[in-house]
Amino acid sequence: MKIAIMGAMREEIEPILNTLGEYTSEEYAGNVFYRAEYAGHELVIAYSKIGKVFSAITASIMLERYGAKALLFSGVAGGISKDLKIGDLIMASALCQHDVDITAFGHPDGFIPESSVMIQSDDDLRSLASEIAVDMGIDLYEGIIATGDQFVASSERKSWIEKTFHADALEMEGASVACACHSFGVPFFVLRAISDTADGSADIDFDVFLQSSAQVSAKFILEMVKRLGD
Ligand code: SAH
Repeated sequence: MKIAIMGAMREEIEPILNTLGEYTSEEYAGNVFYRAEYAGHELVIAYSKIGKVFSAITASIMLERYGAKALLFSGVAGGISKDLKIGDLIMASALCQHDVDITAFGHPDGFIPESSVMIQSDDDLRSLASEIAVDMGIDLYEGIIATGDQFVASSERKSWIEKTFHADALEMEGASVACACHSFGVPFFVLRAISDTADGSADIDFDVFLQSSAQVSAKFILEMVKRLGD
């Protein structure tokens, strides 16, 4: 199967490229798209740059230009749930955009007309991930991931996102990638390892834990690729 693996930052896809060892690369629309074969699958791998706009562009290219039939996102996130510690893995059951606000017209937070607040991720990919987690002896958390064009480093903003969307983690690309995949009817999976807890010390924790957490997520994603059918 043609599978897209995406991150937002170079650090999020580097562990994957290092494991693959051999790949080709092509520049297109301001990104580099890496291609490789792995476990009988054709992979296209890229990091988008940070945020909803760049990640939606990159995801769309992976689906349209490279014909990916599934998209797996690997990266890091700020933890909201008290159960999530730095380095823990969370897969998104559903994703929302916490910074969408047309409430002035009576719409709920995060709602865009002709769309929905939440976009669900693919059931089969989540089931596969749960099986792998059991086999690997890893705790894999499942929950709502809230996305916005903000690095959240404030307990106040974090609490508002938790209260409003019942979100368990937050980041800056998942929901936009979900929108792109949903629009094209392609199954997707968003995995994040916690790099910080989105409060006052988030920027410091992020810098310390980015690489180790990105590695945890990348390793799991490659295990999923190995176990994906045709
Ligand atoms: N240090 C980087 C900026 C990182 S932005 C630089 O200076 O270039 C944070 C990235 O990690 C985003 O891609 C986002 O998806 C994720 N992330 C991790 N923790 C986050 C948080 N607390 N709030 C928002 N995004 C977070």
